[in-house]
Parts: sequence; structure tokens; C-alpha cells
Amino acid sequence: MLLRSGCRRLARSPARPGHRRAGSEAGEGSAPRYEVVVIGGGHAGTEAAAAAARGGARTLLLTHKIGTIGEMSCNPSFGGIGKGHLMREVDALDGLCGRLCDRAGIHYKVLNRAKGPAVWGLRAQIDRQRYRESMQREILNTPLLTVREASVEDLLLTEPEPERPGKCQVTGVILGDGSMVHAGSVVLTTGTFLRGMILIGLETHPAGRLGDQPAVGLAQTLEKLGFAVGRLKTGTPPRLAKDTIDFSRLEERAADNPPVPFSFLSEAVWIKPEDQLSCYLTRTSLRAQQIIRENLHLNDHIRETTRGPRYCPSLESKVLRFPNRHHQVWLEPEGLESNVIYPQGMSMTLPPELQEQVIRSIPGLEKAKMLQPGYGVQYDFLDPRQLTAALESRLVQRLFFAGQVNGTTGYEEAAAQGVMAGINACLRVHGKPPFIVSRTEGYVGVLIDDLTTLGTSEPYRMFTSRVEFRMSLRPDNADARLTHRGFEEAGCVSQQRYDRAVKMRAALEDGIATLKSIQLSISKWSQLLPEVSISSSRRSPASAFDILQYPEATVEVLARAVPEPLGKLAQWRELAERLKIEAAYEWCVVNQQQEMEEVRRDEALQLPEDLDYFAIDASLSAEVREKLDSNRPQTIGAVSRIPGITPAAVVNLLRFVKSSHQKTGKLKALPHADRYLPGKKNSEKARSQRQI
Ligand code: FAD
Repeated sequence: MLLRSGCRRLARSPARPGHRRAGSEAGEGSAPRYEVVVIGGGHAGTEAAAAAARGGARTLLLTHKIGTIGEMSCNPSFGGIGKGHLMREVDALDGLCGRLCDRAGIHYKVLNRAKGPAVWGLRAQIDRQRYRESMQREILNTPLLTVREASVEDLLLTEPEPERPGKCQVTGVILGDGSMVHAGSVVLTTGTFLRGMILIGLETHPAGRLGDQPAVGLAQTLEKLGFAVGRLKTGTPPRLAKDTIDFSRLEERAADNPPVPFSFLSEAVWIKPEDQLSCYLTRTSLRAQQIIRENLHLNDHIRETTRGPRYCPSLESKVLRFPNRHHQVWLEPEGLESNVIYPQGMSMTLPPELQEQVIRSIPGLEKAKMLQPGYGVQYDFLDPRQLTAALESRLVQRLFFAGQVNGTTGYEEAAAQGVMAGINACLRVHGKPPFIVSRTEGYVGVLIDDLTTLGTSEPYRMFTSRVEFRMSLRPDNADARLTHRGFEEAGCVSQQRYDRAVKMRAALEDGIATLKSIQLSISKWSQLLPEVSISSSRRSPASAFDILQYPEATVEVLARAVPEPLGKLAQWRELAERLKIEAAYEWCVVNQQQEMEEVRRDEALQLPEDLDYFAIDASLSAEVREKLDSNRPQTIGAVSRIPGITPAAVVNLLRFVKSSHQKTGKLKALPHADRYLPGKKNSEKARSQRQI
């Protein structure tokens, strides 16, 4: 890292050959200048760069290889439980992945269908090549966005802005050829590349993923700057040749017909429903277990010195943790024309010849050809508690982090952070306030709050169970929650999307009002709608909106009984579906309002960023002070979520903040301290849900 006066003690020296020093002697004037520079062309980087450019920032995306932009390092699928929500939210902010998946999906399936729409998991198998090509086309054609193939080796730093925490600020990056690029903000999205190390059997070699060099220079820079980093691991299964698999004995899973698109802008997906491909289920044999157990000594990756993804474990760890079981393996196509099958559930790091033996011990795969062995990757990640809720580093001003480098796993988690980091990097250079999504507004808010408040010790993935207000934060209403804010505050949403969201919101409000205005007695409804089992004990009269809550009732069913004025609501299919969901959840949503209001109030209570928790005159134990100092919560809401912080400590901190703010007049609203005391309604329940 090259630093000007004031930050010199942080410099890595001597500079590597070919590197120029920052400052006038380095010819700084000739170096290009962008408002936002994004490092990394993965799922976080592409979303970050596109969001910054949509927000009006002249943006540069720097990545090792343009040809790997849009690459899915592991499974060829997007979405799932909790992840589908994130995709809808990315889409609501005009992000890319949802729209592009609707142009590349080959097998769409809504998971959790048996449960309510609040927890449905939109998911699709994606044609790997189509997705990559669409993403590259999109990124290369985004106005204000330049893409350049380069390896970023170092950061340019200068003295910090006064009045803000941080020991320096980033002013640009240094590339592998020694050239510099200046930037107003930098977003770092290097995924698994920081000191990435690939493992197969006992062999290890440095790589970010198969075929790609790791990022070592940047890892050293972050370490020298004093960032707390940890080590995590993940893995990917071998790939199989489709034409060598015997599917005839396997259980087929057909795709949904019709497929449900990811994007609010997609009326339908690109593929005809009947052209979708199927997935197939098989199970591991006890012979596979035997091979794995007998060869543990040949497998370095499975040692539990580094934490791997809990919810996507390797076959080796499943066999060790749950012996004598037949583990599920889903055979998923990698593309419409592709001969590659991804065996989900078979992530392995045994030596390749043993992987082949495991594969051939599985029903249907007796003759399967392995095209590429599975492998593991271990990498550095940054403790995300060092970031603000805008994903900006508290140590180095104007440096933002997003994606797997923050300890998450999954394309959707990366994409969601990418959009938020891109938006905030852009707002920062334009001198505007950060764009924060609260836990009460979106899964992306929960994801970022969990990471920045609690940190993570294992690859973090999103689940609906992490979210307190699931009934309100549904995939169907992500546009209503985020598109308006994205347009008005973040400036990252197109006029077309905004107009569509405004139209939908108005139609929903009108539709609900119309349904509520139709009031009939229960006996009349029962007579009009014999197919709906309406309870005779229900309060009478009841509105059409009340009746819509019954499982058998739909807007179409109601419209047949009351064609005027409901006929026109039934004609707009998407509106009719959303009205049905609104009716089903009305009761829960109304009940959650007060709790959501409390969380919002706590989130609005900002703590000074430079608070010295060891020095403040508040009744706090040494342990609590240490926790507050290492977590550096930004709001009282965040304090109440830190494990081990007692309600009494929250009250005492609140009292201290209240009295110091009364002196400075900084805080607008303060809750009553007794809300946090045992027995009072406080965040205890939420906290226990949030512990990872
Ligand atoms: P990446 O997609 O890794 O992108 C990082 C980008 O940064 C790359 O384009 C790289 O070229 C670029 N880059 C890095 N350093 C530099 C530099 N110095 N200069 C310029 N460019 C640089 N997720 C799951 O949900 N389930 C799984 O089973 C799963 N298995 C995985 C298995 C493997 C082997 C890997 C590698 C990942 C796996 N993942 C899995 C994770 C998923 O792929 C990632 O979470 C997601 O891709 C992260 O996106 P990202 O943008 O943060 O990083």
C-alpha cells in the first residue's frame, strides 16, 4: 500500500519492482480517476459496479479475467429458502441477478410451497454459460461503467478525513503492472481469492478457485493495515458426464409449470415451461462411506481447523457426522445443451482416483465419467464487524467490502451485499447520506446487520429463520419495500422500474380499498361462494377482503360472484395474486407493526462512532466494555443484539448516551430505559433467534 504523510507507518516497503510511489514523483496526474473503483468481477463485484454506475458514478470494474465475469464458482443454481428473498430484494433495487436468471434458468422450482408465500424459496437451475454471457453483455454495456482486466495488488492511501473514524482513507488502487488508478471510493469484493488455497487430497496449491491465481498482495495490505482477518473454507463436488449416467433407475423431479420468474420486471421466463430440464435424485451407498473412512489420512481439507459451510457440508463431513446413512445426491444439469451434471451434496476433496471410486459406488453412477474432480478452497475473510452498516470500513475510510470476503457463502448473499456496497460507495463520493436497509425492511438489512453487529465464525448463509418479521418481508412485496427508496434515496433504480412499482402500489391500494368496500352478510357470502368454507361464526357483515383470507378464495372466485367491480382486478393476474397474499397476511402484519416500530426506534438511536467504551462513565462491566469495543455497535438496537450484553447493560449505556446527548442535543428520540429490563418487552426473543 502506498501512503502519503501521516499514514507512512502503515506502508509495505520496499515497494515491489515496477511499482511507482504515490505522489508527484509517481506521475499521479496522469493516472486515471474514477468516482468508484470495484475490485472483483464475481457476484458481489458485478452488482456493486452496476449499482454505482446506475447511481451516476463514473465506475471502473477491475477483475482478473473479463471472461470469468458472471462465473458461478460452484452450483449452477440461484435462489432457495431465504436466498430467493435476497434475489427479489436485489431485483427491487434494480440489481442484475434476478433479471439475468430469468434469461438463463432451465429448471424453476418454488421451494417450501407447502408453507405460506412468506417463506417460499424461489430457486432455479441456471444454464451456466448463458448466465455468464448475459452478465458479461450486461456489464460491458452499462453506461458509466468501464471494465478492465487487471490484478489489484495494493491500495493508495492518504490521511483520514477529520471528524470520521479511521486511520487513513483510500484514494485508489495499484495494479499488477505498477500503474495506479485513483478513486473516490473503492469496493473490495475478492471472494475466496485472498490467500486462496486449493486442496485436493494431500495436494495444495495457491488459487482463488480452480484455474485462477489468488490475491496475495491485497491480503498482505489488509493485514498490515490492521484488519482482523480469519480463515474459512468451502468446497465443490466433482462434475460428471451426463451421457454416462443411468437416469432410468433414479427419482425424477420435474420443474414447476408455469415457472415463477425472479424479477419483478419479467412477465415470464425465457424458456418454454415444457422445455425445462428435470433433476434426479440418488443416494450414496455404504461403500462410499467405507472409501471415505478408509482414506481420511489422504484428505487434508476435512480437518476441522478451518470452518466450512454448515449448511452445505462436504460428503466427508456428512459421513463422519452421520454414519451409516444414505446421503441424498441431486443430479442437476449445468445447461440446456451441456453434457455436464453437477452432483449436489457430493462436495469432496479426496484424491481424484478415490473420488471416482466413490462416484461409481452410487446407484445410477456406476459408469459415470468424472469430468473434473471436486476440490476444497481455504481463504482469508475479513471480520465484518469492522464495517459500518453501509459496508464501509471503519479503519480505512471510503473502502467498502462486499461478498464472500465478509464471511458469507452463496451468490445471493454476495449479490445483495454488492448492491448495497455499490450504492453506498456512490453516495459517499457524491457526499450523500448512506443508504441503510433496516432489519424491519428487508432480508438484506438482516444480513448486513447480522454481519456487522455479530460477525461470523463460519460461512454465513441467509435463512428465513434469521428474520424476525418474516410475515412482512415477503418475496412478493420486495418492490413495495425497496424500489421507492432505491429510486428516491439511492438513485440506483431506473425510471421504468420505479414507474412500474408506483403503478403496482397504487393498484394494490385501490384493490384493497375496493375489496374492503364490498360488505355482505356471512350468509350471503356463503350462498355466493359455495366452494369456500366460510365459518358461520364469523363476524357479519364481512368484506370481500376478509373472505379472501380463506384458502379456497381467490380474486377470480370472488370476481365470479361479484363481477362488478371485482372483474377488472381478476384480469391482472399478478395483482390478483398479490391481493390474495396481502389478505392472507393482513392480520400478522398488523400485529407486527408495534414490534417493528420499536426495532426502528432502536435502530434510529445512533451511537457515536468514536465512543471510547473503556473510558465512558457508565456502569458497565469490563467484559461488556470489551464486547462493545470489539463489536462497535452503531445503534442501541445493535447493542441489544450482541450476545452476552445484558438488558441491564443496555439500560446503563442508554442512560449514559441519553445524558451525554442531552448535553449536546444530538439524539432526537430516546426510548424508556425500562423497555430493556427483564420482564419488559425487549429484544430478548429476537436476540435468541439471531444467534448463529
Ligand atoms: P467471487 O465470485 O469469488 O469473485 C471474486 C472476484 O474477484 C473474481 O472475479 C476474481 O477474479 C476477483 N479478484 C480477486 N482478487 C482480485 C484482485 N486482486 N484483483 C482483481 N480481481 C480480483 N456458495 C454456495 O452457496 N454454496 C456452495 O456450495 C458453494 N461452494 C463453493 C465452492 C467453491 C470452490 C467456491 C470458490 C465458492 C463456493 N461458493 C458456494 C461460494 C460462492 O461461489 C460465493 O459465495 C460467491 O461466488 C461469492 O461471490 P463474490 O463476488 O464475493 O466472490
